Amino acid sequence: MKWQDRRKSTNVEDRRGIPAKGAAIGGGVGGGILIVIIIVILTICTGGDIGNLSDISGNTQASNLPADTAMSAAIQDDEIADFAKVIFADIEDVWTEIFNANGMEYVYPTLVLYTDYVQSGCGAASSSTGPFYCPADYKVYIDLIFFQELQHEFNAPGDFAMAYVMAHEVGHHIQTILGIMEDVQSLQSQMSQAEANEYNVRLELQADYLAGVWAHYVNKYNYLEEGDIEEALNAASAVGDDRIQEEHMGYAVPDTFTHGTSEQRRRWFYKGFKSGTLEEGDTFAVDYGDL
Ligand SMILES: [Zn+2]
Repeated sequence: MKWQDRRKSTNVEDRRGIPAKGAAIGGGVGGGILIVIIIVILTICTGGDIGNLSDISGNTQASNLPADTAMSAAIQDDEIADFAKVIFADIEDVWTEIFNANGMEYVYPTLVLYTDYVQSGCGAASSSTGPFYCPADYKVYIDLIFFQELQHEFNAPGDFAMAYVMAHEVGHHIQTILGIMEDVQSLQSQMSQAEANEYNVRLELQADYLAGVWAHYVNKYNYLEEGDIEEALNAASAVGDDRIQEEHMGYAVPDTFTHGTSEQRRRWFYKGFKSGTLEEGDTFAVDYGDL
């Protein structure tokens, strides 16, 4: 993607390195314990529930990146942070244009960059949560280490793979400001777990569709490079429930899917990319079996 020397979003809270400061005071293992204690306290104070957030995948495994990869991630961090700020600016421009065209005003979300642990309006989270959007505070939370994981663990390299993840999270913001998120969450509270999971899949596939709509505009603005869409499609496949479950457990349990299969995620992203409009993205109007 062409992203160098372009506008960076100013709706960014850069909280990177804040927990590391605590570690420096406590030193080594002691610092780690200090951070854990702080997180536990924060969790208790806030009710300790991060169930109300929307993440990129159903994967909640802790990172097992080798230490040297983590080190190189720190070195590359500033460049990736700059990239993330440019993508966030592009996302602002696209959704402002779409909302204006529909006679609506777009409310900007905020991007929070953090290291290791973060306190969000939806509770405490750690980088093992992966990127997520919190509807309570309109913020997208990303520990940039995830982009290393995307490349090495999910085998989804490329700058547009990262852009897809960010656009997907902002897709949840669009659902929130349009009232879709609240409607779905209220329905889910009266359902069985299996039915609630189906609604979650619909939400997630719609966020993939909305990420595709964003990519449609980025293509129109001439920022795409050869291979970008393939990178996004590959990333969408990589975070499919069937793929993740098969890798972690050796088999997949469709009733427990919360984000959709690899094939569904690719297809809904691509549908949004081709269409470029909101109209074809109603994942709630399709029979679940045909989704
Ligand atoms: Zn999501």
